[in-house]
Amino acid sequence: MFERFLSKDTELLRSSEIRDLLKLTEGKKVISLAGGLPDPSTFPSEEIEKITTDILKNSPERALQYSTTSGIVEFRKELVNLSSRRGITGINENNIFVTVGSQEALFMIFNLLVDPGDTVIVEMPTYLAALNILRARKPNFIGVKVTEKGPDIDELETKIKESISKGKKPKLMYVIPTAQNPAGTTMGLEDRKRLIELAEQYDFLLIEDDAYGFLVFEGDSPPPLKALDRSGRVIYTGTFSKILAPGFRLGWVIASEEFTHEMELYKQNVDLHTPTFTQMIAMEAIKRGVIERQIPKIKQTYREKRDVMLDAIEKYFPKSARWSRPVGGMFVFTWLPEKIDTVKMLEEAMKRGVAYVPGSSFYYDYSGRNTMRLNFSYPNPEELEQGIKILGETISSYL
Ligand code: PMP
Repeated sequence: MFERFLSKDTELLRSSEIRDLLKLTEGKKVISLAGGLPDPSTFPSEEIEKITTDILKNSPERALQYSTTSGIVEFRKELVNLSSRRGITGINENNIFVTVGSQEALFMIFNLLVDPGDTVIVEMPTYLAALNILRARKPNFIGVKVTEKGPDIDELETKIKESISKGKKPKLMYVIPTAQNPAGTTMGLEDRKRLIELAEQYDFLLIEDDAYGFLVFEGDSPPPLKALDRSGRVIYTGTFSKILAPGFRLGWVIASEEFTHEMELYKQNVDLHTPTFTQMIAMEAIKRGVIERQIPKIKQTYREKRDVMLDAIEKYFPKSARWSRPVGGMFVFTWLPEKIDTVKMLEEAMKRGVAYVPGSSFYYDYSGRNTMRLNFSYPNPEELEQGIKILGETISSYL
């Protein structure tokens, strides 16, 4: 009955075939490698309880009141300090904009920047939820394949030139340089510098999603693009979802004041401001060193789980499969022989007791039919081993 009243924009909100399939795992004994949830054992609930009680005792009139659209000033100052830990310097609180998770940040950024027909560059694969926001803007997509070291910069340059020669100058590139979701890859420093040079040379913006920047558990974390940005063309998004708890729905943007001002105007229409109470809790969590103490614990947990998953893959997957070896984040990406269609295989895998996300969801053109994303942050080690074993057997039965 309601269909005929809905706006045209809602056409893109239809449930996907894969989402429908994965729903079937609910309440069943299926090991899910499909999710993207942090490990709840890493949530610092006791410290959060103490902080919450203190805030309600000491400043309830502030914590429970409306506050400014761009985020509490004191909190933004703490975020300036936190960002310096990622090597981002030379900014002040006016360059910071607080959002309801980085998801809201991406939603606002793409809505502020992308008109239908604008040319935007994405990685193949890239983060599904960002892709869906972009799809709703109806852009002209350019896809750049991700190799073991992140997006292929040579291919990127070729595709930019090609596009410009057809009169389609790219406006922006959405990129996850560190511990990419879903690919699990991390760009090296040289490629980061080259990417910034290309953005300067061909005059496009870089939207840098640093969701996992604090979670590099092997080797050094390369500086984010924002730390290398001299021309102010990088718009950076960060999140508390992976370093504190996703339920807070807290993220932040680092950008030029010109852009944070646009975000302010936009957010006034969306939700006025990010909840004051959660901002104050996160601010205290930074001030009291909770985040500082959390990060190494989370890293250790995820490194151990990654090792369990990679060892199991090595043991149970056929030799013709290829997979990423993430140095951070929460996902391993797998490339199977071309003849395997992971969308078709999912039903069989679930019958056998394991779920994953078919990789095509992460490609703007739904290619990548032979790929899949595997999550290691949420399942326990036994589930990881068992899930990969079942998956390996399922794959082999298709070869
Ligand atoms: N970007 C990436 C790459 C992510 O993986 C996620 C969470 N899965 C987000 C953004 C959104 O996170 P949040 O809204 O919780 O900050």
